[in-house]
Amino acid sequence: MDSMKVFLNGSFVAAEDAKISVLDRGFIFGDGIYEVVPVYSRVAFRLDEHLARLERSLAAIAIRNPYTAAQWRSHIYRLVDAQPFEDQAVYFQVTRGVAKRDHAFPKGNIEPTVFMMSNPLVMPPAAQVERGAAAVSAQDNRWLRCDIKSTSLLGNVLLRQVSAEAGAVETILFRDGKLTEASSSNVFIVKGGVIATPPKSNLILPGITYDVVLELAHADKLPIELREVTEAEVRGADEVWVSSSSKEVLAIVSLDGKPVGDGRPGRVFHRMHELYQDFKKRVMRAGKREPVSA
Ligand code: PMP
Repeated sequence: MDSMKVFLNGSFVAAEDAKISVLDRGFIFGDGIYEVVPVYSRVAFRLDEHLARLERSLAAIAIRNPYTAAQWRSHIYRLVDAQPFEDQAVYFQVTRGVAKRDHAFPKGNIEPTVFMMSNPLVMPPAAQVERGAAAVSAQDNRWLRCDIKSTSLLGNVLLRQVSAEAGAVETILFRDGKLTEASSSNVFIVKGGVIATPPKSNLILPGITYDVVLELAHADKLPIELREVTEAEVRGADEVWVSSSSKEVLAIVSLDGKPVGDGRPGRVFHRMHELYQDFKKRVMRAGKREPVSA
């Protein structure tokens, strides 16, 4: 079997030939930013938005963006075209680069390290979408800049492990009695037909899928509120959903072993799921690889 082609610092190489320095600050400190872009029928979905989020995260930690949007687009599509599958999850990361180990930023203009790979896009199995999935909860003990899409994911990794060990798909997080998000997705609740989700802040990752859910809800006139959501509201909700590029929108039907609502995906979830699937067919799959506006 051919080995997977990946991108490292401007070159396309076999995964086993892609090597970085042990002094790379991504390796030593987790000093880097990443993105994951879903690709449907070889077209990257909302690539401009992912690149804008990358730009914001890089700026927040003062790493120079090594490429223009047009360059990113060109590298990403070369990578996409090098894979034998149509639907992909493109992962890319930029680290601060290689320097003598010292917490402070290295002096001078060091070259960021850029790595990209693409794997098949794995969506939740149909049976899980139909029946819903289990989640557990935990205290959100991450740092206060969860809006930065940092490769320093130890907090998220440990929190995700809590649900993995419980045989659940996600860990829903509460900070000071309020819902933030989940270990790798955003969270929505429904009560009395009204959807609610926390607004974007330093405490959550601004999900691209979160924006899609908001847009679809508005277009379909589904009532939706961006506001603080308490832990008690989550536990008493009729419906709980998680959203991410790979999970799309998924109903959570049990939380910490207790049923959410009647323990089945709810009416509003069904509508949102239908809207999302329709959007995927009409917009995501039919998307063009339009050039970025300069
Ligand atoms: N929150 C966290 C912590 C995440 O890691 C992710 C991405 N997996 C999301 C939310 C959802 O973001 P997106 O919709 O852009 O995939």
